[in-house]
Amino acid sequence: MKYVVILGDGMADYPLPERDNKTPLALSHTPAMDRLARNGELGLVRTIPEGMDPGSDVANLSVLGYDPKRFYSGRAPIEAASIGVELSPADVAFRCNLVTFREQNGRFIMDDYSAGHIATADARLIIKELKRHLDAPDVTFYPGVSYRHLMVWNNGCADMKTTPPHDITGRPIADYLPQGNGAETIRALMERAREILAELEINRQRACPVGGIWLWGQGRAIKLPRFKDKYGISGSVISAVDLVKGLGICAGLRVINVPGATGYLDTNYEGKVCAALDALAEGDFVYVHVEAPDEASHKGSLDEKIRAIEDFDSRIVAPIVAGLEQRYEEFRLMVLPDHPTPLAIRTHAPDPVPFIMYASRDASRHGARDRAYTEQDAAQSGLFINSGWQLMDRLIQGF
Ligand SMILES: [Zn+2]
Repeated sequence: MKYVVILGDGMADYPLPERDNKTPLALSHTPAMDRLARNGELGLVRTIPEGMDPGSDVANLSVLGYDPKRFYSGRAPIEAASIGVELSPADVAFRCNLVTFREQNGRFIMDDYSAGHIATADARLIIKELKRHLDAPDVTFYPGVSYRHLMVWNNGCADMKTTPPHDITGRPIADYLPQGNGAETIRALMERAREILAELEINRQRACPVGGIWLWGQGRAIKLPRFKDKYGISGSVISAVDLVKGLGICAGLRVINVPGATGYLDTNYEGKVCAALDALAEGDFVYVHVEAPDEASHKGSLDEKIRAIEDFDSRIVAPIVAGLEQRYEEFRLMVLPDHPTPLAIRTHAPDPVPFIMYASRDASRHGARDRAYTEQDAAQSGLFINSGWQLMDRLIQGF
């Protein structure tokens, strides 16, 4: 038996009043997913436990079968895993964004949480410079990708309040600096970094100069039981996104890097399909994560979101199902987003998402003729899973 999860990040949405109250999923032409929805289980699942932030980390942790309430310790520890930084029990990891500020009436405003999506090579030079000045016996900076880097504070504090920089674009940073236990140390690092970066020659030539660092998403090491120990099968994760790769590493899954997997509309879909089918020759499980619908949603573009969903259907779901049908007599498949990213709010929402659970055998036992893969039809089916992390049990053990 082979098991496959295909996840379209942020696909789910709210009804659009200007489009007959249809959602982007309902407006998209998705014959492959509609066929699975007609011949499998269709329902709604809550991937974000009540009271938790609707991040992709929390949501993908749920879908992978781990209760976020029990296992989630912050975003940065997962990113640490993804770049191979091992955390000791005394370490607290912080996500370190390179950001751009603008000055207004003597106050610093968050202008760009990504320093103009800085190129990795440029970012590495800047992190190297910051390391030279700021690394200390208890503080270490690690370079990552583009604007996303890591700081580890040994014997540090984790239970302070920090704010994601992408949530405060255009606002004065003073209102959102870290607060609580140990926050002074973190604020002092951010202040020192700002001074260093202001003096830095390589930075002055940039159109979008790196004005500072923003430390957030902190937490201690995440400890997950291995997927193999939990479910008795080994498998792989395919994603362009560090967070999802990090979760895969933490779960003891093999992380496959596909050349040209960008996370955007131009991602290498065909490469992902080949990699997924190849991975099943070695393990029994594969998790395929596609970021493009989420990116389109953050941009607020309905056209791009529809294109991302239709590409997901025709260039990921359809060929994977065809490949599975060709190669294997028996397989089970789950298709879903991790969370909604509604166009109306251009950020993640915690609402339940529509899922399809499909078994090659008994295909018609769960099905219903007159439905499609939409939020509305999923709600109408009456099937509701409140603890998203139990969905994996359903996939592996049967339904
Ligand atoms: Zn997501």
